[in-house]
Amino acid sequence: MSEPCIFCRIVRGEVPAQMLANNKEIAAFRDLNPQAPVHILIVPKKHVASLDDMADSYLLGQMVTLAAAIARQEKIAKTGYRTVINTGKDGGQNVDHLHLHLLGGRPMTWPPG
Ligand code: 5GP
Ligand code: ZN
Repeated sequence: MSEPCIFCRIVRGEVPAQMLANNKEIAAFRDLNPQAPVHILIVPKKHVASLDDMADSYLLGQMVTLAAAIARQEKIAKTGYRTVINTGKDGGQNVDHLHLHLLGGRPMTWPPG
């Protein structure tokens, strides 16, 4: 049975999204509810629930590398950006399909909420 999860459905093209990259293993698309002028999600195309379930360090590296490439493409690399992976309840993860947030286009604050 195919995964009912929202990011799996986006990856399969069943739910529309503003896709920025879509290669064999990874997809990147704009967040529906952006928290910064640039807010992009980078996801593995196979369903992995969270970072806690991720065993493929090569794929993780590809996700981070793609985030940096998209940051350059979106012209936020020079001013800077933030990459975030929320994991589990306390981490603030709402969608249970591993995703890396790429946020930029405004100064970020620290500590995070
Ligand atoms: P989390 O809170 O799990 O770290 O991040 C989930 C992100 O997915 C949120 O920023 C939310 O706005 C985004 N999101 C949830 N549903 C959709 C959707 O259907 N399409 C897109 N493009 N983003 C979504
Ligand atoms: Zn999924």
